[in-house]
Amino acid sequence: MTSRVALVTGGTGGIGSAIVKKLASMGHKVATNYRDHARATAWQEALKKSGIDVTLVAGDVASPESAEIMINELKDTLGPVDILVNNAGITRDTTFHKMSAVQWQEVINTNLNSCFNVTRQVIDGMRERKWGRIIQISSINGQKGQYGQANYAASKAGMHGFTISLAQENAKFGITVNTVSPGYVGTEMVMAVPEEVRAKIAAQIPVGRLGSPEEIAYAVAFFMPDEAAWITGANLSINGGHYMGW
Ligand code: NDP
Repeated sequence: MTSRVALVTGGTGGIGSAIVKKLASMGHKVATNYRDHARATAWQEALKKSGIDVTLVAGDVASPESAEIMINELKDTLGPVDILVNNAGITRDTTFHKMSAVQWQEVINTNLNSCFNVTRQVIDGMRERKWGRIIQISSINGQKGQYGQANYAASKAGMHGFTISLAQENAKFGITVNTVSPGYVGTEMVMAVPEEVRAKIAAQIPVGRLGSPEEIAYAVAFFMPDEAAWITGANLSINGGHYMGW
């Protein structure tokens, strides 16, 4: 497979780290953004020990200005981005009648507006070079909704609307745009949920367990090769059978 430049946003997190490792193992030059330099460099060092080189670039994906600076810096260090995985995400859970404007906006800005902020900076180059892979990491809760997550579910459902529009606009330019919708994966985000709630969730999953970050990374990797050029506008659910709708 041709070696490409890949940017995984939120690559230092649970799922992001697995995607970074998987893309690097496929021979791609992988970068991720950071906000906390000390934490990110410690993470980078740990990966280096297992033979994986990752480029770090400062950037807050919720800010259009920061995203622009981040992509320009990356262009100078690694080259233009061919593969973009919009993975950075947060939760600010509470029922809607208690939700503040800040809780709503932080989640929409980080999870959904970030897709505009970062993708807008790489799309022209992909169109010029006639090759690109764009993946949104959405969520099962964007597909089925979730009590206490009106903000998160709205942001994650919005990602797929973004995917299917971009897929149509860019298909003629060799760019595929797809969504990966994970179910519950045992990362910090999910481990922060009380244990009894996690046990209830696992009991609802036909496969009988939470997913692993590596299982999500495997799905992302599936869209990368040239053989996957006809797969665009898809939403790939990876959830142990927890939800079998769109
Ligand atoms: P983590 O909390 O482990 O990682 C999130 C990453 O996003 C971190 O690297 C974090 O960086 C980064 N990030 C957050 N906000 C910003 C920002 N404004 N700018 C730049 N980077 C930012 O989460 P997961 O690995 O669990 O989740 C990854 C993605 O998968 C998310 O989009 C999540 O919604 C989605 N997902 C997760 C599921 C799960 O079960 N875990 C299920 C379904 C979907 P920092 O360290 O600086 O905060």
